[in-house]
Amino acid sequence: MKRREFLQKSIAVSTLSVNNPKSKIYSDTKIQLKGNDYDVIVLGVGSMGSSSCYHLSKKGFKVLGLEQFDIPNDKGSHNGQSRIIRKAYFEHPSYVPLLEGAYKNWKKLENEYGDKIYYKTGLAYFGPKNHLLIKGSLESAEKYKIEFNQFTKKEQLKNYPQFNIPIGYTNIFEKNAGLIIPEKAIVAFTKLALKNGATINTNEKAIEWLKKDNVIEVKTNKGRIYQCRKLVISTGAWISELAQFSNLEVTRQIIAWAKPKNNEEFSLNNFPCWTYANNSSEGIFYGFPILPSNSFHGPFGLKFAHHFKGELTNPNNVKRSISNKEEKKLLNFIKGLMPNKIESINTVKTCLYSYTSDEDFIVDKHPENENIVITGGFSGHGFKFASIIGEIVSDLVDKGNSKYPIDFLKIKRFN
Ligand SMILES: Cc1cc2nc3c(=O)[nH]c(=O)nc-3n(C[C@H](O)[C@H](O)[C@H](O)COP(=O)(O)OP(=O)(O)OC[C@H]3O[C@@H](n4cnc5c(N)ncnc54)[C@H](O)[C@@H]3O)c2cc1C
Repeated sequence: MKRREFLQKSIAVSTLSVNNPKSKIYSDTKIQLKGNDYDVIVLGVGSMGSSSCYHLSKKGFKVLGLEQFDIPNDKGSHNGQSRIIRKAYFEHPSYVPLLEGAYKNWKKLENEYGDKIYYKTGLAYFGPKNHLLIKGSLESAEKYKIEFNQFTKKEQLKNYPQFNIPIGYTNIFEKNAGLIIPEKAIVAFTKLALKNGATINTNEKAIEWLKKDNVIEVKTNKGRIYQCRKLVISTGAWISELAQFSNLEVTRQIIAWAKPKNNEEFSLNNFPCWTYANNSSEGIFYGFPILPSNSFHGPFGLKFAHHFKGELTNPNNVKRSISNKEEKKLLNFIKGLMPNKIESINTVKTCLYSYTSDEDFIVDKHPENENIVITGGFSGHGFKFASIIGEIVSDLVDKGNSKYPIDFLKIKRFN
């Protein structure tokens, strides 16, 4: 789809608004339905919020989603055309059961929406054997019997001649990994939520919520007041404004698209997603195949980035320009990893991470109000989970618990 068509499709999302006659909570209670009353209000219709609107509306709740910008937008954490999805989770094996659910839900979303959102490209891992990327991934793969094939230096040179990988590094291929198109996924969740009867308002920022007896009141920058029984706060990098978390750090991250000498060598059919670590740089590097411009919006080129804690920022005042020094650093890295393959950097963009102190997510009920569910602190690795987080949120709202093992994501771990 061309960028303009994609944006038009997205804008269509912003203008639709339908009320749900089969309101779940209100049909069970004596509360009088008024125009501005909802079973659930979801604050932030980005990665997790759009999925939550979809899953909640599917369960029959009368849902209002409030998004301060457009859906999707390039100001938070979900912009940039692609996100890696993988199962041999180096961060911690506890994420694997959630990933099993996420994979299933991405497939269901594609079927219901009738369009492709997940691309199975495989993922090549390169790194020293003592690096967390390799050790942690092998541990998760072994524990959960994930297909994870090690290959030799000779095989690397034959199958992935684009890379210059040091001798002695461990090389692994995860066959069932791939990429998700974040903007398309968010539009899909939002459109299906609208179809289920949700109301989604864009360019309307929630500025305050207040508990009043058994309802929660939400005030917005449009001077409106909405009421609900349950509130979901999924405002990404802005979470501290409404959930009073002081221990989250928002960082400015850079994504780059390089211009290779030969596009064909890096095309979707010839080249996998990849991730690379060494013992001298912080974090890891990762990248994607070139996505054809006729079916993907966004910059054309070989996308790659450095996953590490970038500079601290305020989400309302992010430096969006990229300095020559920052761009040169990225160009030198990619030219070193892929010698004689890269001409220049085409495009650079910024995106935001919200870090918790242990880099694990927050998916929990509010410690002082069990009618509020909070998702946040996705620490730069959350998108692949969006399809399952929405389901978990809908269960926390509906039943107060989830069948998925999410104890390790609870807020009490910070006490
Ligand atoms: C460069 C980069 C690369 C990444 N790569 C990967 C990857 O390969 N794989 C992966 O799994 N993850 C990846 N991630 C992480 C992933 O994209 C994030 O974890 C995920 O998008 C976070 O989702 P979210 O819903 O918390 O935030 P968002 O998607 O940003 O949604 C929050 C929304 O809330 C809205 N909002 C905020 N405040 C208010 C308010 N007061 N009222 C109304 N609306 C409000 C915002 O405008 C925004 O739209 C990457 C992130 C970045 C930045």
